[in-house]
Amino acid sequence: MAKRYNPNKCKINRNYTVSDIAKLYGVHKNTVKNWIKRGLKKIDNHRPYLILGSELREFLKDLRTINKRPCEFGEIYCFCCNSAREPLQESIEFEPYNLSLFVLKGRCNICNSLMNKYQRLEDLARLQRYFAVILPLQQKRLS
Ligand SMILES: [Zn+2]
Repeated sequence: MAKRYNPNKCKINRNYTVSDIAKLYGVHKNTVKNWIKRGLKKIDNHRPYLILGSELREFLKDLRTINKRPCEFGEIYCFCCNSAREPLQESIEFEPYNLSLFVLKGRCNICNSLMNKYQRLEDLARLQRYFAVILPLQQKRLS
């Protein structure tokens, strides 16, 4: 359930600053900085960073493909590894989201980054068996 950003919303012949992009796509500046970390190319290292519209468009197209890549049962997509990963057993917890969904959270077993994934409530029992046990966020903090 990752957000989709329309790659065609930016103009390929324009230069964008981090705040321009944040405004254009209605995201936080940190999200844009995260995109840079994940491979969005800057024109150079001078601040404020400038990003070419054509680079932004290509990056957002890639992002869509990445987000479409399905995870196996019990895997969460790690944005740091750019790959589906199994969470570390002891890091797994869940947070109710609404009546039909919850958020499965855990740390990547390769790079230790925080990962999360929306899951259907009906999958909870199966996931709890799969991981031996997953505690709800609240309960984990209390214990
Ligand atoms: Zn990872």
